[in-house]
This record gives sequence, structure tokens and C-alpha cells, in this order.
Amino acid sequence: MTPHTTERFEIALNTSAGQITTAVEVPTGFVPVTAIVPLIRRLGEEAQALEVAISVDAGKAPSCRKGCAACCRMLVPLSAPEAFALHEWVRSRPTDQQDRISTRFAETKSQLLSKGIWQRLSELCNAPEQPNDEVLEDLNREYYALRMPCPFLEEEMCTIYEARPAACRELLVTSPPERCDDLINNRVDPISAPVLVSTVLGLLWQELRKSPTRLIPLPVALDWAKGHEQENQQTWKGVELLDCALDKTWRFLSQATSRNSQDSVR
Ligand code: SF4
Repeated sequence: MTPHTTERFEIALNTSAGQITTAVEVPTGFVPVTAIVPLIRRLGEEAQALEVAISVDAGKAPSCRKGCAACCRMLVPLSAPEAFALHEWVRSRPTDQQDRISTRFAETKSQLLSKGIWQRLSELCNAPEQPNDEVLEDLNREYYALRMPCPFLEEEMCTIYEARPAACRELLVTSPPERCDDLINNRVDPISAPVLVSTVLGLLWQELRKSPTRLIPLPVALDWAKGHEQENQQTWKGVELLDCALDKTWRFLSQATSRNSQDSVR
């Protein structure tokens, strides 16, 4: 494959946790939407690092540790670009690893089918409109009640750490780890994520494809990406993707700021 030439941009973003300034390398040619995923994830991680620093200064360090994977029993939502990126990542692995992943996903599918949840997850990611919060809440609770480990979790460790979805990166808590054993009945204290990357990428996809934002639960993400592979064949100029993704990020941040100021006057 011919390597893409890139162009360097300096980006500055004002978030609720402070300003991020960073340099990004953007392909000059035409690329699929997955090319922008690592870059937006990086912006999200840099914004979250600022939020973590504020929390640490306030005496509340994250209690999340390697080997603690209580939250890996929750339903993880992905945007469409992330689902395609995950599918590409899996296909780039050695055959034996791909086989192991296929087996784990098949086991997960069979369990979810037996509980009547698989069909609902599949319908969710193909729905013409995003379901309301109540429907999502019910599904999240039913899924979490199974306490089923994520198919990428082995010996309580994430086997795709570098490629894990944004929602996994954004979940950090400062409360005692044992409270995460029951996230429904215990109160946990999360560190908020200034930029919700899957929301930004969902909005980007909505604009690029003139389609719904899509919310794709991780257990069905590989099947969904395979079934929609043709949509991932489309390419855009790298700088066009960057512009559009930054526009969605700015919109997200300004809506978050106005939500926060409304909350503070209540
Ligand atoms: S992808 Fe990794 S971090 Fe995310 S839920 Fe699965 S095992 Fe946990």
C-alpha cells in the first residue's frame, strides 16, 4: 500500500477542562472515515487528561486500575466510524487471533440470543432514528444484569487496549473500586469526559452519509461493520474530514457549555 502524504495542522480547542493545543497530521489524499478516528480519539484523551488533572488536584484521583474490569460488563456503544475501525483492526490481526475473537463473539451472540437480547441490539443499530433514553436504559440494564464479560476481555484484561472504543476510554471513576461491582445499586463518582468522542463521530457520520447518527453496541459491531462494508468504501479528502469532525467537536463543546451554564443557574 502506498503511504499517504500528510499535512500538519495546529488545533486549539476550548473545553470545560481548559484549552487543548495539539498538532495533527492529516492525509492529503482521499481516505475513508476510519482515518479520522485516531485523531478525534486523541483530542478526546487530551481533554480528558485535563479533567483528570483537575480531579487529582481536588484530591480525587481515578481509582481505575489495570486488571479491574467491572465496567467491561456494560453495554459499550460505538459510532459507525468506530465500528468500521474496530472491524479493520480485527482483520489486521494474525489469523489465530482473528479466530479467537470470532469464537468469543460467537459465544457472546449465542448467550444474547438465548436471552432475547441479540435481536434488540441488532435492531438498535439499524433503527432509522435513535431510540429514546428510556428504551436505551432498559436495554442497558438487562444487558448489565447478565454480567457478561466483553468478548475482548481475557483474564480481566482488555485484549484490544490500543484499539478500544472511545466509550471505554472515557469511563473513569474516583469512588472505591468495589462499588463498581454493582453499577446499578451503588453510587459511583465518574470523572466527566469533556469531549464524548463517539457522539462527535456519530454526528460526523450523520453529516457525511446523511443518515442517522447510529449507536452500535459492541457485541454486534463486527457483524454490523461487515454488513455495511460498502459504506466504508467511500472516501473523502483528509482535510475535509478534519474540518467536518472539528465542526462537530465545536458544536458538541458549545452545547455542553450551554447545558452546564443552564444547570448552574437552576
Ligand atoms: S473493549 Fe476492552 S475496555 Fe472496552 S469493554 Fe471490552 S474489554 Fe473492556
